[in-house]
Amino acid sequence: MTTTVATKTQYEAVIGLETHCQLNTNTKIFCNCSTEFDPEHPNSKVCPICLGYPGVLPVLNEKVLEAAVKMGLALEAKIAPYSKFDRKQYFYPDLPKNYQVSQFDLPIVEHGQLEIELTDKKTKEVTRKKIGVTRLHMEEDAGKLVHVGSDRLSGSTHSLVDFNRTGVPLLEIVSEPDIRSGEEAAEYASELRRIVRYLGVGDGNMQEGSLRCDVNISVRPVGQEQFGTKVEIKNMNSFSAIQKAIDYEIERQIECLKTGEPIYQETRLWEEGSQCTISMRLKEGSSDYRYFPEPDLPPMEVTKEQLTLWKSQLPELPAQKRTRYESDLGLSAYDARILTDDRDVAEYFESAIATGSSAKLVANWVMGDIAAYRNKNNINIKDLVLTPANLAELVSLIEDNTISGKIAKDILPELLINGGSAKELVEKKGLISISDTGELEKIIEETIANHPSELEKYRSGKTNLKGFFVGQVMKKTNGRADPKLTNQLLTAKLDG
Ligand SMILES: [Zn+2]
Repeated sequence: MTTTVATKTQYEAVIGLETHCQLNTNTKIFCNCSTEFDPEHPNSKVCPICLGYPGVLPVLNEKVLEAAVKMGLALEAKIAPYSKFDRKQYFYPDLPKNYQVSQFDLPIVEHGQLEIELTDKKTKEVTRKKIGVTRLHMEEDAGKLVHVGSDRLSGSTHSLVDFNRTGVPLLEIVSEPDIRSGEEAAEYASELRRIVRYLGVGDGNMQEGSLRCDVNISVRPVGQEQFGTKVEIKNMNSFSAIQKAIDYEIERQIECLKTGEPIYQETRLWEEGSQCTISMRLKEGSSDYRYFPEPDLPPMEVTKEQLTLWKSQLPELPAQKRTRYESDLGLSAYDARILTDDRDVAEYFESAIATGSSAKLVANWVMGDIAAYRNKNNINIKDLVLTPANLAELVSLIEDNTISGKIAKDILPELLINGGSAKELVEKKGLISISDTGELEKIIEETIANHPSELEKYRSGKTNLKGFFVGQVMKKTNGRADPKLTNQLLTAKLDG
């Protein structure tokens, strides 16, 4: 909970998010036009239906209903047995019909929840919190205005409209006002995106606008039940922008309360450049959209068969994976969180441990050297030449003491570039650990004989010189001496 200490009063923020998630269906929500993003060819993906010509009949794309229901199931929500579309009337140049087909009083999904994880930056300790989801509904996107000749001083000279985006399917997801800080809001949004991506119903790209979050935020003294004046913030195109915009706005509103300045019910924009929110327009009461049932689309009834089928197609979701990684695989909450952030990474990891390799060891490689290599070369884990089976083999070589962790680290770059069997590479390069007692004993005896003065010092009490001897043996064997056995034999020889 974010509370800021004033002289006496403590304040808390009350925050809710409205998220628009663009779906990745091939065609639009009510017609067969392509949803492909094509700004080079404005108005090339349009037809009489999405342009709202008189006399046309829209037909619901079943994939949109499927995505909405699957999202609802993932949010542990109630799926409405009966739902309908409504017309939301308003005038704007990017809306050819002068109404948007949306859902009003009978949305497809209600009463869900989402678990977020908050990580302490210092201790890496993870705490969890449930955020309520009020509702989720389906709707069509509007077109896009392109302002021409725009500069900051004179504004644009005119605007063009591209209807390619008109009728692209959206899910609008409304949270309960359960969020208390910028961090919680950013976590909520990123968990939503994770679910969208796990389900494969959208790409959740904030920069490109396929995931858009509007924030409602008010501040009140702790203990006060009544909400403060609600301000809406828009125009954040990253999770960190959401966090920063909210934290800025909380401070601004607390400052207003302290100094007695009025807080207006308004829409504010986050400005990335100046890192603050600026007033865009005042809200005078709630708009009257004159919603009424869409007469051209029949109400929807999700059948038991559909529900059963879609439920059976749900993948294991991020929160479920995190819990399983902790309880069944013994990983820390932090590791579980990193590994499950991207479904492809989680699947790579799972297939690498499928043959019985240590989960912790595999996790360390996936999150460590392999992640560093992928970041540096910008490679998706799916495109790695090193297959999960190759990695499992490498880890098993460490586990059965064929090679040391150090040798594994040394050969990894080659494996990442060429792939293939770690075992074969180790054999070819003669890197197999020396774990033959006789052979090692000989090397150790030689080493000791070569360093008589160190031996003397060791025997007169400087026992930490053992590390020196281990280092010499490793040097002599190019790191191939079995570390455990070396230690054992060395101790015996030195003390003997
Ligand atoms: Zn169309």
